[in-house]
Formats: sequence, structure tokens, C-alpha cells
Amino acid sequence: MSALPKEALRRGWCPSTLRPMETGDGWLVRLHPPGAQLTPAQLRRIAALADAHGNGLIEISARANLQLRGVTSKSHPVLVEHLLAEHLVDEHEGDGPQRVTLVSPLAGRDPTGLIDAAALAAQIEQRARAVSGLPVKLSVVVDDGGAQALDEFPCDIRLVGVAAGRAALCLGDRLWRSQVAEAEAAAEVETALRRFAALRKAAPDRIRRLRDLSPDELAGLTDLPATDAPGLRPAPRRAGLFAWGEDRFAPLIGLPFGRYDATALDRLGAELDRAAIGLSPWRGLAFRDLGRTEAESLLALADDLGLITRDDDPRLSVQACAGSPACSRAEAPTMADAAKLAEAAGDLLAQGVTLHVSGCIKACAHPAAADLTLVGRDGRYDVVMSGTTRDKPVATLDLPALLTRLQPGQDIQARLKAARSTGSQG
Ligand code: SF4
Repeated sequence: MSALPKEALRRGWCPSTLRPMETGDGWLVRLHPPGAQLTPAQLRRIAALADAHGNGLIEISARANLQLRGVTSKSHPVLVEHLLAEHLVDEHEGDGPQRVTLVSPLAGRDPTGLIDAAALAAQIEQRARAVSGLPVKLSVVVDDGGAQALDEFPCDIRLVGVAAGRAALCLGDRLWRSQVAEAEAAAEVETALRRFAALRKAAPDRIRRLRDLSPDELAGLTDLPATDAPGLRPAPRRAGLFAWGEDRFAPLIGLPFGRYDATALDRLGAELDRAAIGLSPWRGLAFRDLGRTEAESLLALADDLGLITRDDDPRLSVQACAGSPACSRAEAPTMADAAKLAEAAGDLLAQGVTLHVSGCIKACAHPAAADLTLVGRDGRYDVVMSGTTRDKPVATLDLPALLTRLQPGQDIQARLKAARSTGSQG
């Protein structure tokens, strides 16, 4: 494979395996395993490749994609060669939008699901590939209506199981349309996509994403009648042991800050010779269809390896980039510090406070605002309240001082509250 042109490495675009994105710690290579699933052997192979050709860290994104970081112009062609030879690159990569659907990591296996989200997502992928003129970042959530609600993930089009074999359709995350039979749901989505692509073609400067459509344009994407949004469902479990009856178990294992050492993931894969592994948008892995003993021992191993095995683990609420030593631009060891902060600020995080720990101003892990953003600078952290890494810091602290300030009841809570009510930076 020849060297990639500079314009193929822009920051902020949608990277893929063949067209990586340049980041502060090298090239980011994204993999879209079909159906967001892997076998244990594939997980092990990807871990080995991350070690050999990247910086040894594997990420799972909030769209349930795998990402290898720290790839270089020299290592990328070799990495791609291995991925292609071992069928780990999506065969449709380069034909328009990448994988557009997002499903629960238990899709197709959850007996409480009202529709088969895995099968429906596969049909939608196929139909979406036949529509030209769609944006690269198109997103269709297919939620089976079962135990793992996907409400928190924004999207262009949402299908939610609302009765056995029936789904409600939502456009632009704001316009609900009444139930459609499961067998017809993929065709309904395709109709909406074709109409959207035609509008986009007619007004390319105004319409990039589905959210750019006017209310009338949005309503015109389907002929289904209007309906109310489905009722609220219980919060999904993001980590821990998922059980159906006495004989089917699925351990859900989270990667702290969505990222972990490839060697640890290799250890998990080595424990099993079968099992379908679902990639989770809660930035983890679901090992499906295991017996109780197998599932419990896998969770125990994950716990020993430092992975997330409990749903109340505060690390599930923290964003952190690779930091030092993985990233040459880092001015602080973000992952290690984020782990200490998550432990110290567990009560705050449980109250819904969002925390972002960034090794520098580039904000690779979380470009958006957080309640509390810490930006590495010379081994210390600039502290930004209710803003991004590029907003004005209110203080610069070293970690021990920060840990003291993060005790519940101390001044940081009052300042967060004030910052939220005034919309200022505190
Ligand atoms: S944000 Fe983190 S990973 Fe990105 S360049 Fe800065 S230190 Fe490196």
C-alpha cells in the first residue's frame, strides 16, 4: 500500500482502517467488525496487531467501533495487509457510509427483546449501501426494546421495539412515527434514507446531516402516521453479569475510559475458544452465551486485570485520553490520574457530574464540554469548569491538591452548581 496523501489524515473526520486519522499520538485506525461482533480468536489477533503496529492500546468507541492508536506511516501498510489477509477489514469499506447501525451488545440474544435488532441492523446496512448521497457519519440506532435501552445514544434514525414484532420509528431524534411491522422496518428506513439523500442532493450547502432538515422536510421522509415517544425504560446495565434463567449468562466487561492494554484483552480472548463477543457502545465487550462457571471466571479474571466488572464503577462516567507515556504530546499521565480521580470523586460522578481528563488541549477523548475538564500542562492540570479544553481555566492544580478539592461537600460542588446556573466558567 502506498503512503497516504496528507489530506487523507485530517483531524476530526471519520477515520477507517484504510484511511486513518492523525491524532496527537500517531494515526488512529478504526475497525468496523460486521455486526459489531468478534470471535475470541479475532480479539486475540487484533490485540497482537495493536501491540506490533500501534502503541499497544485498544479502544472501543461510543459507536462500538474498535480503534488502534499510535500507528505510524511505516506500520500502517503492514497492519492493513494483516487485517485484509485475515478478513478483519469490512469488505464494504470505502463504499459510502461506514457501518451505520448501532445495536446493543446483546442484540439478537436478549430474550426480553421485542424485535431481532441484529437481523434488522444487517438488513439496514445492506439497504443503506444501495443509497447514494448519504453522509459518512449517518447513524441508525436499532433498539430491540429489551433490557438494554439505547436512548442515550444520539442518532439520525431510531427504531425501537415497542411490541412483539413491531417497532416505532423516530426521525432526527425528535419526530416519532407509529409502529411498523418488523418485516417492513428496514424498507421504511431505506425509504427515509432515499428521500433524505434526494433533499441533500438538492441543497448540499444547507443539508449535511438529517438534523439540518426543516420540520416539514423531516416529516416528509416517511408516510407513517405520527405517534408519541415510547415510555421511559429502566437504565441499561453497562457492566457486570447478565443472566437469563439458570443456564445462559453474558459477562459485560468495560474498558476503563474506553481504552485498555492489548495484552489484557488477549488474556480475556485466551480464556474462551467459543462465544460471540459483542462490542458495546458503553465502551466494552459482552461475551455472550456462556455457562455460569465460564462467565463467573471470566469476570473474575477481568477484575484481576483491572477492567470494569460492576455497573456502579465510577470509571464508566469519566473520559480520559491516552496521556503519557503513550502519547508524546501528553503533559500528564491522564489514564493513571483519571483512575485516581474516579475513585476519589465517586460520589460526585454518581450525582451525574461529568469529568474529562485530557493530556493536552487537543481533547482526543472528548472534544465536547464537561462539567469539569482537566487539561495537562507541565505535569499539572488546568481546571476548566463547564467547558472544553480550549476554554479559560479557573485554576491550575497538581493532582494531590485536586484530589483534596474533589471531596464531596467541599467548594468544587458549589462552584459547579454556580457555573451551571450562570452558564459561565465558574
Ligand atoms: S489529548 Fe491526549 S492523546 Fe490527544 S494529543 Fe493530547 S495528550 Fe495526546
